[in-house]
Amino acid sequence: MAETSFDVIVIGAGPAGYPCAIRAAQNKLKVACIDEWKNYDGSYAFGGTCLNAGCIPSKALLESSELYHRAQVEFAAHGIRAAGVEIDVATMQKRKAHIVKTSTQGITGLFKSAGVTALQGHGRLLAGHKVEYTAADGTKQELTAKHVVLASGSSPMELKSVPFDGKTVVDSWGALEFTEVPKRLGVIGAGVIGLELGSVWRRLGAEVVVLEAMEQFLFIADQQVAKEALKHFKKQGLDIRLGAKVSGAEHGKGGVTLHYADGAGEKSVTVDKVVVAVGRRPFTTGLLGTDTGIELDERGFIKVDHECRTGATNVWAVGDVVRGPMLAHKGKEEGVVVADLIAGLTAEVNYRTIPSVIYTAPEIAWVGQTEEQVKASGRPYKVGSFPFMASGRARAMEAPAGFAKVIAATDDDEILGVHVIGPMAGELIAEAVLAMEYSASTEDLQRTIHAHPTLSEALHEAALAADKRAIDFPNK
Ligand code: FAD
Ligand code: AMP
Repeated sequence: MAETSFDVIVIGAGPAGYPCAIRAAQNKLKVACIDEWKNYDGSYAFGGTCLNAGCIPSKALLESSELYHRAQVEFAAHGIRAAGVEIDVATMQKRKAHIVKTSTQGITGLFKSAGVTALQGHGRLLAGHKVEYTAADGTKQELTAKHVVLASGSSPMELKSVPFDGKTVVDSWGALEFTEVPKRLGVIGAGVIGLELGSVWRRLGAEVVVLEAMEQFLFIADQQVAKEALKHFKKQGLDIRLGAKVSGAEHGKGGVTLHYADGAGEKSVTVDKVVVAVGRRPFTTGLLGTDTGIELDERGFIKVDHECRTGATNVWAVGDVVRGPMLAHKGKEEGVVVADLIAGLTAEVNYRTIPSVIYTAPEIAWVGQTEEQVKASGRPYKVGSFPFMASGRARAMEAPAGFAKVIAATDDDEILGVHVIGPMAGELIAEAVLAMEYSASTEDLQRTIHAHPTLSEALHEAALAADKRAIDFPNK
């Protein structure tokens, strides 16, 4: 590589790092982005966890498995006879791999058109915002930069008592690569990732047992939504066992026996494959040289301030490797904001309006506070909700499960939180995010015209219901 001096070097090309590099280049800065992601076949690929082993492949499989499931349980209601529907896992996986490849190659193209120097290999921060770059062939080079952005992401947590073996006990990436539907699948952890992956393989025919240590289901979500979700997931055949803390695994001829304890005592369940989905931890292995001035907190996250500045001059950190929700869009926003701040522009991440989405069926999405959080804050509030059962569009889609819920302050009508469980919830929540970004009131939503018949009317009606003015459902 001829060039060794840059305005900005970004380490990591996941959804936090690559947008940061592109925005910095748009800001007329000279930028390099280094990434070491390698696929199972040993090939390098940009895009990080999200594109290679997270958001994108999981959504590809969720789509395929949902179509298969709907063909079996829903087509008949439409009068479509589709006897003998079969799943061809190899083709499904090939489609997923193609989507992933197109996405990751797309980043190479984006780097090229933005003028970002794309480097595949390892980056290590040295003191004085220098970077040591180790290329694929092992050659090392010292690069200099005015600013360095650390975007090294996260990795799956392992359970010491149930270690990964890459074959029978796998992490979330492994669970996206199964070549056949396991007969019995054990999922440890009923978080977002565990529920999405459990749903994929359940829809394809696996018997799925989900073991979750906490008594409360989906504690991060509004509990009215969580209750509704649990009802539907159980109906779909996901055997979700709450308060079930896994303590060990025994491999035998008949499969893997997972030992767990719940309120009633010691129990066990035998399965063919196990997905450990107990969370992710910040990834900083090999990232930091000596005397860089970077500090990690007690959980291993790189310490940053509200603008993603680390303790070291001109070194920034964004995405999963810093505090906050481990979400691709959170990292992207931080990356873009940091690139603007480096260029001297005004920019800020609004951490109060980061949406969360769980891509199950029904889909779950929310922004802002849950009802439990609003209640705990002591601020007087009102709630409006609207069931999709009362939405003509949802019924036409054969998707009447769930509801939209708007929580607003009683005093000034400010929207404090919006929660949707139902069809296309992840798309519907965008309206609520925009509303909250502009500090909208429920009256603003109420006076906004929503096309008929659309799913978005559910949000409109929920806003109206907050003032007992819903039209299409009796007000309580
Ligand atoms: P990463 O995507 O982890 O990227 C970091 C990159 O840096 C990697 O390529 C890594 O190889 C590279 N790197 C690390 N250290 C070095 C180094 N020293 N030198 C060079 N390169 C280095 N989030 C959502 O918002 N929506 C979803 O639907 C969603 N689904 C998910 C499904 C699954 C199964 C999983 C596992 C995660 C999912 N996530 C989802 C989370 C999302 O993937 C992460 O929040 C996101 O990838 C974080 O982005 P990042 O850029 O911070 O880190
Ligand atoms: P998340 O952090 O959202 O990915 O969710 C991970 C889930 O795994 C959390 O709900 C944890 O309570 C759960 N979990 C962690 N350790 C165990 C364990 N040993 N047995 C069962 N569930 C666990």
